[in-house]
This record gives sequence, structure tokens and C-alpha cells, in this order.
Amino acid sequence: MTLTVIAMGSNLDDPPRQLKVACQRLSKLPGLSGLSVSRVFTSPPMGPQDQPSFFNAVAKCHYAEEPRRLLAELQAIEQAMGRAKLRHWGERCIDLDIIQMGEQLIHEIDLVIPHPGISERIFVVQPMIELLGGDHKVPGLDDLVTLRHKLKYQSISLCEDIDISGAIMA
Ligand code: AMP
Repeated sequence: MTLTVIAMGSNLDDPPRQLKVACQRLSKLPGLSGLSVSRVFTSPPMGPQDQPSFFNAVAKCHYAEEPRRLLAELQAIEQAMGRAKLRHWGERCIDLDIIQMGEQLIHEIDLVIPHPGISERIFVVQPMIELLGGDHKVPGLDDLVTLRHKLKYQSISLCEDIDISGAIMA
């Protein structure tokens, strides 16, 4: 069982609903247990600015299978939810990224773990702090509170009225 962190993002077709559907589907994956999710945060797009703000959350779980298996499962969920690649860093109904799998280090052409974008993305670091605590360390990086300090100029807001945790299936 590996402590696994997955980032979720959406900025199309009712993003809170998309995040809930993603949670529901994650909770049904074989080999995945103990799923919990952060609160939802919204932030401006990183790529092209002529697109809606993103809604993001982070999930943590235990995963018993190989990282490649999880990547395939996440890509299958994205496909099933109707994700289409419109443009680089562009709008999407759902984006699921593997952020961390325990202490594993993977550097392959189509799979990099820990995810290389963590230390540049407050919308990943802030929800991770909620779930894992500020002392948590991703292999090769500073602790989460230090990462957040370095990202203090990036804007992010908590969506107090959105709760996606109810979508997790027992
Ligand atoms: P994105 O557009 O952000 O969904 O990126 C999709 C591509 O990133 C896919 O081709 C994946 O193979 C690749 N990729 C590399 N590392 C990861 C990771 N840790 N989690 C998810 N996708 C990854």
C-alpha cells in the first residue's frame, strides 16, 4: 500500500460537479482505499488567460497497484468524463494528475513522479497542506509550508460553499 496523492482540476461544464464525479470514480478503483479529499479552491488559469478560472482539489489514498496502472486508470476516467484536449494548458472538464506515490521516483517519458509542477502550483500545495499537514515532504522537495511560502504571490481562494467529500463512495 502506497500513500498516493492525486490532484484534480476542472474549468468547464460545472467544475464542482466534475470534481464530485471524479471523486466518485476514484473511490471505485480496484486497489485504492482510504480515499479522502481536500476542500475545493479556485484560482486563475496558468496557461491562456481567455478561459474560466480553475477549481482544484487534492485527494489522498492508499494504492496497492503499480504507478503505471494508476496512470492508465486516471486517463480512463478523464476519457469517460469526456475530456478533450483543446489547447496546451487550456480549458478542460477534468484533469487528474499523480502528484506523489510514497517515496517512489519515476522519470519516464510519459510518467514523472513526483509530479514536476508541484512546487510551482499553489493550487496543489495548499490543498495538500490540508490533507497531509505542513510538515509533509514530497521526495526531492522542501516541506509543504516552505513551498507555500515561495508561492505566496499566486492567487487562490477557498470555495467555502462547495463540498465534494460526499461524493466518495464507501
Ligand atoms: P495533462 O495534459 O496535464 O493531463 O498531461 C497529460 C500527460 O502527462 C500524459 O501524457 C501523461 O502521460 C503525462 N504525465 C507525466 N507524468 C504524469 C503524472 N505524474 N500524472 C499524470 N500524467 C502525467
